[in-house]
Amino acid sequence: MSKPAPVFDVAAVRRDFPILEQEINGRAMVYLDSAASSQKPRPVIDTISAFYLTDNANVHRGLYELSRRATERFEAARRTMASFLNAGHEREVVWVRGATEAINLVAATWGAANLKPGDEVILTCLEHHSNIVPWQLVAQRTGAVLRYVDIDDQGRLRLDHLDQLLSARTRLMACGHVSNALGTINPIAEIARRVHAVGALLLVDGAQGAPHVRVDVQALDCDFYAVSGHKMCGPMGIGVLWGRRELLEAMPPYQGGGEMIDQVLPEASTWAAVPHKFEAGTPDVAGAVGMAAAADYLAAIGHEAMAAQEQQLIRHAQRALGNVPGVRVFGPVDPAERIAVFSFELAGVHPHDVATILDAEGIAVRAGHHCAQILMRRLQVPATTRASAYIYNTPDDFDRLAAALEVVRTVFA
Ligand code: PMP
Repeated sequence: MSKPAPVFDVAAVRRDFPILEQEINGRAMVYLDSAASSQKPRPVIDTISAFYLTDNANVHRGLYELSRRATERFEAARRTMASFLNAGHEREVVWVRGATEAINLVAATWGAANLKPGDEVILTCLEHHSNIVPWQLVAQRTGAVLRYVDIDDQGRLRLDHLDQLLSARTRLMACGHVSNALGTINPIAEIARRVHAVGALLLVDGAQGAPHVRVDVQALDCDFYAVSGHKMCGPMGIGVLWGRRELLEAMPPYQGGGEMIDQVLPEASTWAAVPHKFEAGTPDVAGAVGMAAAADYLAAIGHEAMAAQEQQLIRHAQRALGNVPGVRVFGPVDPAERIAVFSFELAGVHPHDVATILDAEGIAVRAGHHCAQILMRRLQVPATTRASAYIYNTPDDFDRLAAALEVVRTVFA
């Protein structure tokens, strides 16, 4: 007998998200923009407010009880994130503002120290601007060259094209774990094997991976992994850069300031050990504690249950959207190759008009280029409408979306 797929009680999860219980334009709100930012459950909000109510003080400096407690909460949150990512050591976890800052940190420090004219950095045409522009900046400074892996007609990376691009000139590949625009899950362990075979490093933009897919940085065998708190039920303005310890130790600091130094002398200074070398200034302690609470919240639901539920939701959404005439969904067809992020076009209607009418129906979606202009150009569309789901979404939400798309069709008939 095959084992039943684990699932969880979505109704109970929804009760943790009071923000979802509201009407927009006279209709029960349907929130389908979690790829832009997820909502936050009560335990995360309560953890943040409890921190400010009982434990708040600056960290690492104080010799008094409250500061010790704040420091302990901050470092415990780091341990939680290390275990969430299955990092080999908590010192491999650097607190940053989000995935954007994590990638900028690596591009600016590792890139400046390691890239020379003619060296190559491989990106993909699925990347979010956060995983393109930092590399453009460092390429302009160092003379390195950027290459882009192409996709197939379902928005999957073409590994045969990656093989053509990889060479002795490749120093690093920077690749999203999951596409924010198409929902494609990329085969990171397979990509790591190919990238390492030419002696290059692999940075993974996990902004959309960590919220949906179990992340095991050791099994993925990547070298850097960037995570954003606000996409995984945590607060905005906090994130994590995981990096291999020997790489982090060899990299120069990112920003200078308090906390990141060992000795400050008039002309030069020495650095604190990793990860503090990369954490200049007062960190977002409450944000870190809140992000750890979010990681615990997701872990309690369980990744297997989340994935099983999401697969069911994808199948339902594909049927619902497939029944609306004129809708074309981009990205992988096989649910196993994607998350519940659906970029689509509705024939003859601009995505901004689609989103405006959906808003009038109480449905929140995104329309535009989704910070993926290279991808939009590749798809030969100016923009798409994107409906992105998370743990609190139900099949009903996609039925509401499909019905509202019929309204759009009527308006533009
Ligand atoms: N990469 C991807 C794939 C994203 O979806 C996002 C957020 N839209 C980012 C990077 C940027 O993350 P953050 O908001 O944490 O800076």
